[in-house]
Formats: sequence, structure tokens, C-alpha cells
Amino acid sequence: MSMKAPRGVNDILPPDSLKWQYIRKQAEEVFGQFNYDEIILPIFEHTELFQRGIGETTDIVEKEMYTFEDKGGRSITLRPEGTASVMRSYMEHKIYGQTQPTKYFYYGPMFRYERPQAGRFRQFYQIGVEVLGVDNPAIDAEVIIMGLHLLERLGIKDYQLLINSVGCPECRNDYREALREFFSPNLEQMCPDCQRRYERNPMRILDCKNSDCRGYMEGAPSIIDHLCESCKTDFTKVCSYLEMVNIPYTLDPGLVRGLDYYTKTAFEVKYNKLGAQDTIFGGGRYDGLGREIGGRDVPGIGFAMGVERLIMTIDEQIEEWPIDYDTDLFIISIGEKATEASFRYLYELRKAGLKAAMDYLGRSVKGQMKMADRLNARYSIILGDDELAKDTATIKDMQTGDQVEIKLSNLVTEMNNRVK
Ligand code: ATP
Ligand code: MG
Repeated sequence: MSMKAPRGVNDILPPDSLKWQYIRKQAEEVFGQFNYDEIILPIFEHTELFQRGIGETTDIVEKEMYTFEDKGGRSITLRPEGTASVMRSYMEHKIYGQTQPTKYFYYGPMFRYERPQAGRFRQFYQIGVEVLGVDNPAIDAEVIIMGLHLLERLGIKDYQLLINSVGCPECRNDYREALREFFSPNLEQMCPDCQRRYERNPMRILDCKNSDCRGYMEGAPSIIDHLCESCKTDFTKVCSYLEMVNIPYTLDPGLVRGLDYYTKTAFEVKYNKLGAQDTIFGGGRYDGLGREIGGRDVPGIGFAMGVERLIMTIDEQIEEWPIDYDTDLFIISIGEKATEASFRYLYELRKAGLKAAMDYLGRSVKGQMKMADRLNARYSIILGDDELAKDTATIKDMQTGDQVEIKLSNLVTEMNNRVK
């Protein structure tokens, strides 16, 4: 059998996995500070949820879903994103009946059948946030600000915030017609996807990644010119909240985002040195989603961040991750009795909260020293049968090379004092 994971699916091995832990922890802290609580969502849902929630004319539903029939004959899909599940859960548990707003974050793998390349995988991780039950433009700004807060916390700079409003169904009717008129002379030359989008959902053409098609976008009508009064007012407010806290942004009338359920505010944060896949996170308002999946109207806004792209950005921008790879101490034992005693002391040291290790492979003293180095041990404790008999041990400071002899029975207290 093949010893290879499926294409586009990665193992995250140590020490890289420590970067993942680090990002998750920072996200939890930042989101916690903004009063967002974690929601842990299922990995798969009824296919219909995504078909209706994401929209039949989106890339995700048209070609990227991992859909299969389960043993009971139901159509199941591995989640390609989190928002539809959040809305389903909100309806299922009648969370709308509780005090609003509802502020969630989630973290976990998503699945999309895409062509694997730098920054694009078939299983990838997202950190997402959603706020349901409030349509005040201040919350749109808060959500964006919180995402940027996390980037700053992770040491990321030089990103670019792009924002747009995609309006509401009313403004969009008008706009769709304007787009059709604009694209119709070149439609024959555009890709088959765009030709289909032209009929079903012309706004999606603006999101086409095909470089030939991109050439025809120049001069396309701007949604901003077609916004209704209420969408225009809300958009101006979102922008002014961002200005209030000095957050630079760029208006991008071509930004429509990949999902059908978006209304009003849409935004993306990019880092241009990431190459073709340069969006770190994107999101927007989705006031139409609740009804779309068969529930009630509920205002919602959120974003999803690609963890792999975050990591690529941090790798590109910072010298050294602020991750502690160190071990407090390593016990080097010489002789059978000393090795047994080391096992007992290791237990005590760990119970006292120290990060401690010893060798289990019968290595020579030299080999054990090397292990201590490899684990970045701050101290090594050298214990031989002779020392054991005299109730002594030697502590070696691995940075200075200084050695002192201590009473073995005081080892835990002694090490605790040194480390803490
Ligand atoms: P793209 O235009 O790159 O396909 P998208 O519009 O499909 O992005 P969203 O559905 O908004 O992306 O997902 C939010 C974020 O999740 C993206 O900005 C990106 O960081 C990440 N992401 C999306 N698809 C993938 C993937 N296949 N592999 C890795 N990260 C991804
Ligand atoms: Mg995509």
C-alpha cells in the first residue's frame, strides 16, 4: 500500500506543529479579549447545507466539495468552510432566543478539492469568527479590527486591508444588469466558467482567477455606484469606524468574495509577498444566509483566516518564532541503580511542574549529554551509582558549564528554585 497521504493533505510534524499551537493560543487570547467564545463544529454536514448556504454558483459548490454517500444513503459533505455550520447551529439550538449578539470563533480543518499549490491545499486549517444578531456597522469594523489585532500580535506587518460593499439583493439586481451589459461584448473570449456565471450570477465573474478573463475586468461598473441609500450609509459608517482608530484601508470595488450569501461589507487582508495565494483572511456580512438555509433572517458577519497562509507570512517576516523549545532539565544516569532512581526523580520533577527528560535507549554518558543538548536542556543532572549511595548529584548549568554538587534528596526543591 502507498505510504503517502492523499494529494494536497499534509502532516504537521514537530517542531512545525508548535507554530500551529502558538497561533491557536494567540488567536484564543485575542478573541477572548474581544469576548468571542469558541464553538466546536462538526467536520461534516448534510450536503444541502453547503449547497444552499454557500450557493450553487460558487466555486466551492460547483467543483470543490468532498461529497459522499454515507452507509445510510445520505449525502454528506466534509465542511469546506465554517460559516454555514455556525448559522445551522444557531438555528438548530435557537440561539437567537438568547441575549444577542452571539460572538463565536472556531478553529479547525476545512476540505476543498482544489489544485494543490503554494498556499492551497485540499485539507487546510481556518481560524474563523462570526457575530450573529447585530447589524450595526460598528460590529463590521470590530470584526476587521480584531483580525488585524491578531496579525499584529503575531508580528505580521505590511498587510493590506481591502474593503467593499456588495450591497443587498435590491442593489444587486441593478448591478447585475450593468455587469451583463459590460461583459457581453467579450463574453465569447472569456472562460466557460465566466460564461456560465454571466447567466447565473455575473458578480462572480469579478472573482475569476483566469488571467485572460482578468484582462476584461478593466473598467467594469462598480457596485459602489449601484448601492441603495441604506447600504451606502452603512458602508460609509464602517469606513468611518476604521478611520476613527486609524486603520488604513483600500476600497476595492472588484472585491466580491467567493460565497453567494454575502451582503454589504466584504473585506480581504492580503500580504503581497505570498505569491498567487496572497489572501491571509477574508470575510464579510451575510445577512441573507439564515433564510437561505431555511431559517429566519439573522444579521451576521465574520471572517476566516487560513492558518497555513498565516504561517507562511510569519515565516517570511520574522527571524525567529517566539516559541519555547527548551527543556528545564535532563537527567544523565550512570549505572543500573542510578538509572532506576532517575526514573523515580523524573516522576517527582515532572509532578512539581518541571519539563524534564531522561534517556531510555541505554545511551553512553556522552550520548546522554548530546540528548540534553538536542532538547535544549537548561540543566543536566548527573547521577551515578556512587553519588546515589552518598545521596548526592551534580547539577550542570548547560549554558555556563558550571557544576555544583547537591544533596540528591533536595533535588526537586533545588531544581524548582533554579528554574522558577
Ligand atoms: P481563494 O480566493 O484563495 O480561493 P477563498 O475566497 O476561496 O480564497 P475563503 O473561502 O474566504 O477563501 O477562505 C478564507 C481563507 O482561507 C482564505 O483567505 C485563505 O487564507 C484560506 N484558504 C481558502 N482556501 C484554501 C486552501 N485551499 N488552502 C489553504 N488555505 C485556504
Ligand atoms: Mg477558493
